[in-house]
Amino acid sequence: MSEEIKNNEANLPVVSGPLRGALPAQLDLYNKCMALAHNLWWSWHTDVVNLFRSLDPIRWRQLAHNPIALLKEFSPERLERRVSELVIRTRIDQAYRRMNEYMAERPLWSRQHAGVLGSRPVAYFSLEFGLHESVPIYSGGLGILAGDHIKSASGLGVPLVAVGLFYDQGYFRQHLNANGWQEEEYIDTKVEYVPMEPAVDKNGNKITVKVETRNGPIYAKVRKMQVGRVNLYLLDTDLEENSQEDRELTNTLYGGDSRTRIRQEIVCGIGGVKALRALGITPGVFHLNEGHNAFATLEVIREKMEYDGKTFDVALREVAQQTVFTTHTPVEAGHDYFSPELIEEHLGPLREKLGLTQDQFMALGRKHAYDQNERFCMTVLGMKLSRYANAVSSLHGKVTRHMWRELWPQKEEEEVPIGHITNGVHVPTWMAWQMRVLLERHIPGWTVETIDPNIWSQVYNIDPGELWETHEDLKALLIDFTRRRIRRQLQRLKASEEQLAETDFILDPKVLTIGFARRFATYKRATLVMQDLERLDKMLNNEDRPVQFIFAGKAHPADEPGKRLIQYISEVAKQPRFSKRIAFVEDYDMNVARHLVQGVDVWLNNPRRPLEASGTSGQKAVLNGALNLSILDGWWAEAYDGTNGFAIGNGNNHVYDAITDERDRESLLSVLEGEVIPMYYNVDEHGLPQQWIRFMMNSIATLAWRFSSHRMVSDYSQLAYLPAAGGTSAKMF
Ligand SMILES: *Cc1c(COP(=O)(O)O)cnc(C)c1O
Repeated sequence: MSEEIKNNEANLPVVSGPLRGALPAQLDLYNKCMALAHNLWWSWHTDVVNLFRSLDPIRWRQLAHNPIALLKEFSPERLERRVSELVIRTRIDQAYRRMNEYMAERPLWSRQHAGVLGSRPVAYFSLEFGLHESVPIYSGGLGILAGDHIKSASGLGVPLVAVGLFYDQGYFRQHLNANGWQEEEYIDTKVEYVPMEPAVDKNGNKITVKVETRNGPIYAKVRKMQVGRVNLYLLDTDLEENSQEDRELTNTLYGGDSRTRIRQEIVCGIGGVKALRALGITPGVFHLNEGHNAFATLEVIREKMEYDGKTFDVALREVAQQTVFTTHTPVEAGHDYFSPELIEEHLGPLREKLGLTQDQFMALGRKHAYDQNERFCMTVLGMKLSRYANAVSSLHGKVTRHMWRELWPQKEEEEVPIGHITNGVHVPTWMAWQMRVLLERHIPGWTVETIDPNIWSQVYNIDPGELWETHEDLKALLIDFTRRRIRRQLQRLKASEEQLAETDFILDPKVLTIGFARRFATYKRATLVMQDLERLDKMLNNEDRPVQFIFAGKAHPADEPGKRLIQYISEVAKQPRFSKRIAFVEDYDMNVARHLVQGVDVWLNNPRRPLEASGTSGQKAVLNGALNLSILDGWWAEAYDGTNGFAIGNGNNHVYDAITDERDRESLLSVLEGEVIPMYYNVDEHGLPQQWIRFMMNSIATLAWRFSSHRMVSDYSQLAYLPAAGGTSAKMF
């Protein structure tokens, strides 16, 4: 425990006055709080979150909900005084004890299912991890999926270690300027506030790994983060041994050009395998979350050749047998391609050790092995080097088999060996504590970890009025949050007092509230509902049945068309007729996402089918009783049953995008006007929209367990990890 402060003068790390005089009991309390703050276990235990918040609610918010930063503002004496004032000492002791019990326990699930993995864990590689807003090493969906995956692995007790990069600045922070144009700000993360410590080998020495390139090595240090029972190892090139350029290599996520990208990918993939070896970890399975880390497989082949004397072909077959590869998008720009020059510069030394010619090496990343015009594709490498490849929803499976069918020219498209495991979300992270309390109270045997459909189906036992009241409370919190964030935006833009005062009237808790938050890629069609502003005006400002929208989302810094969509929404929101009914919240992150999915009535998703491989934000909305209104794409295509939300379109596309867009827009508006709005405002004598509440219950009962990451990780374990570890050639799907 790097933060431990011992009551021993000689050992005091900092000679700061306040610690010197601290009494043993005060130090004990301080150390317990720090220990809680150093395992992200705290972040999905809402009672522990509430303990931290209660210490100083305002600073908590200002410090991006970072408990280490908050505790560093307390001396042990002041902490003890505050804790006695609040009378929470027992609760802190209990939380600390519960965390230790959790860490020591082997959950039932793992004892039953994960035996084969035993001492040879799954090594899960991802270029980003979305764990909590205070740990900014993620950009969006892919990272949050990875975070939810490892949290569920921890919950279920699947033996798993995770590997990624530590970014000193993470992804950018978004601000809109006075013209509604997105500006990006990169902020240095204060490393001392991130719950990490140096990873050490069995002799206690800090680990540094070295990755060779044609122009010299890149070094990386290895940091360790504790995510419940899962160790997450993060590589960081900020080391003196490196050139200035390489020291900055891991500064930002998805920054730089393709040279930056390939260098990040060899550090994470190849360096990651070396780090595991230095740690003394021998994985039984390698799981590549997206193609970014597929170079890892080549390093494992090299190890087998060097240490076990295997030939390249034999080693390749063994590694493929152990490797699980998940592809996440049908959008072409989402797949990495590298030129032969970049490949030779960065993989040349490894290629020689593998005994391959340049052409043979390039063939590993090409659809058509010897087509000289094809660049090296990481997805192709992932497909070729894994025995178990999967897409992330049923429809995405179909699209993916079509997209990569040329890799298996002798097979019919349906026989292409790519299956699917639909994504899910980590229920303890995304369900509001108010909802948890409600379910715990009404459903015997329900806990936030439950994936038994029979238990979830008892959601119908909840009193409709109480479910509605809980939802209304969460919605009020969302509206407060939105107003506060808009006030902050306006203050930054030096708005007048008058303008600031008006923010109290933005949005109305009584009005049907629709949320739309996602990355502003054009295929997600954020402005679909805004093509006809007259019709929108009539809908939003209808006297009896008004509607309001909250938008959020970042565009990639290089995506001008995406930024124009944000600007358009911000301009529409400024028109007097819309200014109380449309809000854009800046800087979409996990905190904004949590408020939105917990507080809206409806979660809108209208991508151009079939480009949304899965989507997960709508699954988070389910857990909190919001209803999905979505194109039949990704997870929704297999989730929608006519009574658990709403569908846009009928699942067909026209050959011309413009016509598809027009039809989807018409369908969206007519479903809103004809189904969603009437149902929401159809209330009984107690003011309760009974049919709507029924839909909320249907949605929770049919979807919450199915689209949870516990179900997802349990599928990965049974369908992929166990066969891959067992060395059987059992077919995955
Ligand atoms: C859940 C989440 C996403 C992914 O949601 P999609 O439905 O895939 O768009 C992206 N960003 C944040 C901050 C999230 O919480």
